[in-house]
Amino acid sequence: MAEPMLKFVKLDQQMPQKRDADTRASDFLEIYGEFILQKAEEQASRCSQCGVPFCQSGCPLQNNIPDWLRMTATGRLEEAYQISSATNPLPEICGRICPQDRLCEGNCVIEQSTHGAVTIGAVERFITETAFKNDWVGSLKAPQQRDQSVAIIGSGPAGIAAAQVLTGLGYQVTVYDRHDRAGGLLIYGIPGFKLEKDVITRRIKQLEEAGVKFELNADVGGTIKFADLKAKYDAVLIATGVYKARKLGLAGDEGALQALDFLITSNKNGFGDKVPAFESGEMNAAGKNVVVIGGGDTAMDCVRTSIRQGAKSVTCLYRRDKANMPGSAREVKNAEEEGVEFKWLSAPKNLVLEGGKITGINIVKMRLTEADGSGRQGIEEVKNSEEVVPADMVISALGFEPEDLPNAFGAPELKTTKWGTLRVNANTFQTELENVFAAGDIVRGASLVVWALKDGKDAADQIHKYLKSLANSKAA
Ligand SMILES: Cc1cc2nc3c(=O)[nH]c(=O)nc-3n(C[C@H](O)[C@H](O)[C@H](O)COP(=O)(O)OP(=O)(O)OC[C@H]3O[C@@H](n4cnc5c(N)ncnc54)[C@H](O)[C@@H]3O)c2cc1C
Ligand code: SF4
Repeated sequence: MAEPMLKFVKLDQQMPQKRDADTRASDFLEIYGEFILQKAEEQASRCSQCGVPFCQSGCPLQNNIPDWLRMTATGRLEEAYQISSATNPLPEICGRICPQDRLCEGNCVIEQSTHGAVTIGAVERFITETAFKNDWVGSLKAPQQRDQSVAIIGSGPAGIAAAQVLTGLGYQVTVYDRHDRAGGLLIYGIPGFKLEKDVITRRIKQLEEAGVKFELNADVGGTIKFADLKAKYDAVLIATGVYKARKLGLAGDEGALQALDFLITSNKNGFGDKVPAFESGEMNAAGKNVVVIGGGDTAMDCVRTSIRQGAKSVTCLYRRDKANMPGSAREVKNAEEEGVEFKWLSAPKNLVLEGGKITGINIVKMRLTEADGSGRQGIEEVKNSEEVVPADMVISALGFEPEDLPNAFGAPELKTTKWGTLRVNANTFQTELENVFAAGDIVRGASLVVWALKDGKDAADQIHKYLKSLANSKAA
């Protein structure tokens, strides 16, 4: 039989079809289509089946990528799905929103040899969507139930991954979330044009069908006492993410919107909810000159959301250059195509207010300085380079820090790092409190969905170990 792989020498890299910028900029639907079977098989067959697969080392979940690519290329899709879902709790979501250029695809050997990486993310998405269509996904319910119970605080990817593992092992799992919908940043942070919402609600439904209970509008530390959860459940997992927005620290600062407030409002509006802040125009970019400050994924989501809401103009300010943007290069390109203007090497000085209303933002040019010992270049202002950019709406997207959880939860025994993240034992995910574990952004700091999934899975394995030894010691 002819070798079905290594086709990168004659087949070019091809992404699934991307909707043209004009059409996609007026709705919140995903911008990439899905591969058809023939394309998925072809693209998977480009893999060079390396003995030491660097794509796998570049994937935080250590996905067995070469094997599921081979299965796809040879038409064995159900097996491809079994291999891919063995390590990844949400492969269809990672396939859509992982920054593959920095992870698996960035490490692909044929990318390094300038042939263009295998489109790993798109194939991963295709495999799982095919599995859903063909009913291969199956139930998460364990054949036998255990009488031990676990509370998970936070329904983002870390909480979902842990709930999948623990419910699969037969534990009674209840997930608490202060929002009215489950999914964490997947549901209310990341916009639909990157990840349509029914992709997440399908996974929440799958957990509910397996017996996981979701307690929504349940603010732990507010309406629900953390101490009560700790006493009621055999184990508690804290997976609350990081939500304290970094401040601009400028004159007129209070006139700027916070990125996540803007995105949550937009996402709620997309669900058809009545959102006063949207209807009043306070958090609606329609007809406005919008300036977004920041260069990460959140900033990219804000500029592209503003375009879709019908902004008059959208400008993104970033104080370093394009090469140093922390956001995914693919997202920057998408934003440029959709009409966002980037002002590189530009930093805000102050907001210009007239009669209490924002009319502009005063910015200054920056330049990169020599790299220091760490190799990172510094930045400094270019003298006499200030200019005012007209703006009716300024959105601050400078990233997030952890809230003060020990205080909010009334649990001073929970210890934090110097960054304010929860301190856990790196091997066991255990906090300083007996039966309390933590995972995801609240431990790692603002990161990526794929890392939250890994941490949630690993923490669940450790909770299982802990609960088994607890049960054994009770039985002895
Ligand atoms: C706008 C934006 C865009 C992003 N885009 C990407 C991307 O494209 N790709 C990518 O890989 N990553 C992206 N990220 C990062 C990614 O979303 C996070 O790293 C990931 O969601 C962290 O998962 P988590 O489960 O730790 O926390 P979260 O997803 O933040 O979930 C935490 C949950 O805990 C709940 N919660 C918090 N406090 C309490 C409390 N006291 N009581 C009850 N519930 C509580 C919250 O309501 C939330 O639902 C993005 C982040 C943002 C903000
Ligand atoms: S989980 Fe993310 S990094 Fe890993 S293979 Fe999938 S797309 Fe790549």
